[in-house]
Amino acid sequence: QVPLKPGRSLMDWIRLTKSGKDLAGLKGRLIEVTEDELAKHNKKEDCWICIRGLVYNVTPYMEYHPGGEDELMKAAGMDGTDLFDQVHRWVNYESMLKECLVGRIALKPVAVPKETSISEKKKQLNGMLPEKKLLGASAKDLTPSYDWFQTDGLITIVLYTKQKDMNTELVIVDCQDKRLRGEIIMNDHSYVLEVDLDHAVEEDFVVNIAEKIGKVEIILKKKDNIHWKMLGQPLESHNTFIKCKNRGLFYRKCKLVSKTEVTHDTKLFRFLLPKSTHLQVPTGQHVYLKQIIAGTEVVKPYTPVLPFLLLDFQETSCHDGANIYLMIKIYSCGLFTQALDHLRIGDYISISNPEGNFKKSQVQALEDLFLLAAGTGFTPMVKVLNFVLTEVSSLRTAKLIFFNKTEDDILWRNQLEQLALRDERFEVQFVLSEPTKDWVGKQGRISSSLLSGFMKRSRKDSKVLICICGPTAFTEQGVQCLKDLGYSQEEMHAFTA
Ligand code: FAD
Ligand code: NAP
Repeated sequence: QVPLKPGRSLMDWIRLTKSGKDLAGLKGRLIEVTEDELAKHNKKEDCWICIRGLVYNVTPYMEYHPGGEDELMKAAGMDGTDLFDQVHRWVNYESMLKECLVGRIALKPVAVPKETSISEKKKQLNGMLPEKKLLGASAKDLTPSYDWFQTDGLITIVLYTKQKDMNTELVIVDCQDKRLRGEIIMNDHSYVLEVDLDHAVEEDFVVNIAEKIGKVEIILKKKDNIHWKMLGQPLESHNTFIKCKNRGLFYRKCKLVSKTEVTHDTKLFRFLLPKSTHLQVPTGQHVYLKQIIAGTEVVKPYTPVLPFLLLDFQETSCHDGANIYLMIKIYSCGLFTQALDHLRIGDYISISNPEGNFKKSQVQALEDLFLLAAGTGFTPMVKVLNFVLTEVSSLRTAKLIFFNKTEDDILWRNQLEQLALRDERFEVQFVLSEPTKDWVGKQGRISSSLLSGFMKRSRKDSKVLICICGPTAFTEQGVQCLKDLGYSQEEMHAFTA
């Protein structure tokens, strides 16, 4: 993120898009754009970008882009789909840039032979090919298969994934009205079964997972006791197996059931997943929340926490799967958090499937864990800490170094101090950047010297992991400090979008 000029916030952009100004510059027409034409619009004052086959005139958006003009210019006059996906796949540009739409990219009439090589395919504009065709041979072999059968009252769908370590966090099922969507995460791939069911089913259903053989069963209850001739009509994503990063986000509406104060500006929101959803957010992953603000869809990521520290891990996953707890700082001029704060108990908000690249395998056989958190960068640390303290028997020390401006900003201070008293492996160190004169603890910002003083291994060459999360600049600086201190890439995990 770069600092934006005053009057160039997201809200200002939304206002501009509603002003009736001709932002695309084509007086309301939509045109077909050839690649040659697209290439001509490659300057700051005349900049067109193609995303998934649609061409946008982003010139008026330049100053509003949170990533800065230079970042946007990297895709000037080109297909920016890849670049866009790398940086912010989740931003709903369709809604944000709809007033800038110039038209569709003109497809060259290419005669595609039956077996095109990947390199030939890449020559075509990204995002224009049906995703299924991009599957490599190896991915095809791993594609799960499914089958279904029925009894008088039940419909059972069986998915065979051939993946040995299948578990409940890897299976996400939603059944809204007659629309059933089941997603299975298999390493970096996602398999989706999506059908418009033949007949109505009850809201709740059962998901059984045979972890060792990778078999997943979805058992639906028929609403009416009738014989189904077929499972239903396949929907758009049905039976697709693609890279997770190419799968669009799927949302369901969740109810706000409580909101409690954590500090003067941070609240713990508890959202209830619908009965018709099976979803558990894995440790270290985040979800996206979506709201319509001033007529525009706005999406922001948040990292679920636990209702409080140190729950028995098994207990949490069994009994609390239906709730998503989010610890969110409300910014006085924040677009999304202000709208969130105005939600009333009982209101609904859209929450997406989880995402993120933290893997539990990173803490396997771990001996020393260091957590470097700044502000709400504490949120991913909650589940990581809970997981290692309850599940990783090799763990000797877990230390949180928590950076905040003032004492009043420290999240769950009491709980952290209690935990340190209860569990001798855990230690917490608060560091303040704007302390009052009464503060006797550590002060300052993240630096190599500060870290080297705090991060002591339990033994030489112990297996160590350092997690870091906070404002982007904090995280970047922290990673640099750790490199300077001699830690390897494998020994660090930076939480980012
Ligand atoms: P914005 O409208 O974006 O503004 C926030 C504040 O920053 C305002 O004061 C604004 O003036 C200023 N600001 C924003 N952008 C700029 C800019 N480019 N230049 C200058 N000033 C700027 N937050 C949590 O509270 N809890 C979480 O669990 C959490 N998890 C996250 C997980 C991930 C993976 C990521 C990437 C972020 C997470 N965040 C979390 C942050 C969250 O996504 C939002 O960014 C945050 O809530 C602010 O949103 P907002 O729309 O209210 O604020
Ligand atoms: P904050 O209160 O503004 O800052 C917390 C502490 O970090 C302060 O001590 C602050 O020092 C320090 N800090 C800020 N910028 C720094 C920098 N460039 N270098 C060194 N120290 C710096 O933090 P916040 O408002 O809670 O923001 C939390 C951030 O975490 C947000 O940007 C959010 O997006 C991010 N986050 C990311 C994830 C994720 O990626 N998974 C999850 C949760 C939160 P100063 O007072 O000196 O600025």
